[in-house]
Amino acid sequence: MLTYRDVLDNDGLIARRRSGYERRAEQLAMAAEVDAAIRSKRSIAIEAGTGVGKSFAYLVPAILYAVEGQALDCRTDDYFPLPEDEEQTPPAPAPPSALPEDGELDREEDPFALRRVVISTNTISLQEQLFQKDVPFLNSILPLSFSVALAKGRANYLCQRRFASAKKAVGKGTLLEDDGGEEFERIQKWLETTTDGSKSELAPAPSVDVWNEICCEQGNCLGRKCKFYDSCFYRQARRRLEHANIIIVNHALLFSDLALKSSGGAILPNYDILIFDEAHTMENVASEQLGVEVTESSVDYLLSRLYNDRTNKGLLVEETSRPWSEERELFVNAAKQVDECRYRAERFFNELREWLDARPGSNGRVFEPEIVGAGLTEGLEGLKNALRRAEETLEDADRRQEYRASRMRVSALIAELEDWRLQRSDGYVYWIESFVARKRRRVAMRAAPIDVAPILREKLFNATPSVIATSATLTVGGVKKCERAEEISLDAIALSPDDEPEETRRAFKFFRSRVGLTGAAARSLGSPFDYKRQMTLVLAKKLELSEFAAIRRGLSEEERREENERRLCAALREYVAETDGGVFVLFTNAAQMKRATATLSDFMVERNYPFYSQSEGVPRQLMVRKFKESSRSVLFGVDSFWQGVDVPGEALRNVIIVKLPFLAPEQPLVEAKLEAIRERGGNDFQEFLLPNAILKFKQGVGRLIRTREDVGQVVLLDERVHTKTYGRQFLEALPDCRLRVDVFN
Ligand code: SF4
Repeated sequence: MLTYRDVLDNDGLIARRRSGYERRAEQLAMAAEVDAAIRSKRSIAIEAGTGVGKSFAYLVPAILYAVEGQALDCRTDDYFPLPEDEEQTPPAPAPPSALPEDGELDREEDPFALRRVVISTNTISLQEQLFQKDVPFLNSILPLSFSVALAKGRANYLCQRRFASAKKAVGKGTLLEDDGGEEFERIQKWLETTTDGSKSELAPAPSVDVWNEICCEQGNCLGRKCKFYDSCFYRQARRRLEHANIIIVNHALLFSDLALKSSGGAILPNYDILIFDEAHTMENVASEQLGVEVTESSVDYLLSRLYNDRTNKGLLVEETSRPWSEERELFVNAAKQVDECRYRAERFFNELREWLDARPGSNGRVFEPEIVGAGLTEGLEGLKNALRRAEETLEDADRRQEYRASRMRVSALIAELEDWRLQRSDGYVYWIESFVARKRRRVAMRAAPIDVAPILREKLFNATPSVIATSATLTVGGVKKCERAEEISLDAIALSPDDEPEETRRAFKFFRSRVGLTGAAARSLGSPFDYKRQMTLVLAKKLELSEFAAIRRGLSEEERREENERRLCAALREYVAETDGGVFVLFTNAAQMKRATATLSDFMVERNYPFYSQSEGVPRQLMVRKFKESSRSVLFGVDSFWQGVDVPGEALRNVIIVKLPFLAPEQPLVEAKLEAIRERGGNDFQEFLLPNAILKFKQGVGRLIRTREDVGQVVLLDERVHTKTYGRQFLEALPDCRLRVDVFN
């Protein structure tokens, strides 16, 4: 039987393909842990530093388990070794001999008795790396057949029936966006060549309005009655999922699947093994996906898709434009109900705005139900009924289906509105957010579970035989030194939480308790990189004017802030010049980043640094791509640049961290989490804010060294690392590296 060592070790299958391949002790140790956990149906959390090669360490044991029992494919005598570095197209997965009916396959009744492994990532870049590089490579070297599928939500696929109907409506003025048919012609051409009919294959991407008219939708499918049934892209994608050994998904879709399964639906088929990569993001993504969000714009959009009397567009226009008949009056009545709902929605959201304005300084948190009346809900109920009556008169199956789907969207909105308005979910925090969109002040109603751990434990971890959670940043304190390569024993399988050393228990406590993986074993593995050679940590001391010094100088709080920003910008000039660009500056505050961008733009132009700032609204992926084009680029970023961004090589050699990344405690969800900790007698700072900030800090520092060849510096400008007692914990969380202290004065 083939083992992970036959693949990953020095004389293994990868070594035979890649010249200069060297086994990595950390990778083998991780593969051993994953293998043991899968086979003993246990769960495990594994922290593995950058450069371990985590993806192969979990993919190899997972694939071997998924296809266990399969006869080796003896295409050659010796696992078909290939000429070194030869690229090979992975073999196509064998087509199934028969296809199951649509819908969920029960594992027990699965005629193919597939073992399925789901791998979930947070970022698209890692998803692409797995699906386009790592898995095809393993498929090309393993003497086994396995199939892999990328799971995408239904709305990613074009519905051929809806496309055909929408195309017919072009020029009649009823579509929300009607460009005279050019966009539809372009999509028609793409349809002739696309292999999977998913939006990501269509470049440039279609507008949201057009795509919403032609994509697959929940409740908007004719099933077997559809004339496109056999060639339906979404059906084909589902079949690929049902017959895949390995399914790659993102955390958002995985948690949406979890929420759907609670109400009897599903996106993913059942699976045996669940592997979370980038597991440090699980809590945040689960909170978002299990929460509620209703925005003023989303209500507006839903109503406009039905009928907009100003533009005379929307679903109802076709039927309301017919000559008079009793049936037509039903559609006219539905259109009137849409207008009524629009009026009620405006009143509803104005009431929310007034509620917010009556509480200056409030963070928008709503502590009691029914702060607004049920007027909008009643209006929507009326609309739903009017749509049903109108729908019943339609003979055309396509149109009936469109009306049915619209009615379901209205029903879903009613449920969300009432969930929020009546605060129906226990253990949730409710709040209102105010923001400016298209120069108008808008509001959103939001709710999220305060603690996702019980939900994930009950619905996900207890229902899945083996869960593997991995990331480069899972531990806080405790395990000061991760295991070094020379100390790693492949036989040292992680102990269960009850038997593990206190140090390990402490280090993983935050992660395990926040996501509910409390029964999982844990192991921390270091990085194979030589940080002592590759990384210098620069600590800036006395950069900021202290409160005490400001008082002595007679400066107000505002003047002190301005002085500190002046000092910050002066320091940024120095540190950017020190490495002649190749810099990421990571901020925690978007307003501060915007001010620094304005102050330093001239300096960047004078010195000819290609300069990209997130405050200018450029998409993240584009910023990263542009940044990589020069070795002198400078990039200012907030939240999303602290993690999931990979810039290996010379382009990035200096990461400047402006402030330690503490969460804002006044944000409603954070505030509720802190309260919950205090209520059970815990210390909210030590148990939540500090470990959260340390993990994010580790992520930020981790942007610098991505390969064995990378060298550079991380500059920390936050004074608190010297002045606060918790400062040491941030420094101890980093790998051993060179240290330099720059004292400003
Ligand atoms: S089967 Fe359903 S999703 Fe597929 S093309 Fe027909 S209506 Fe659209």
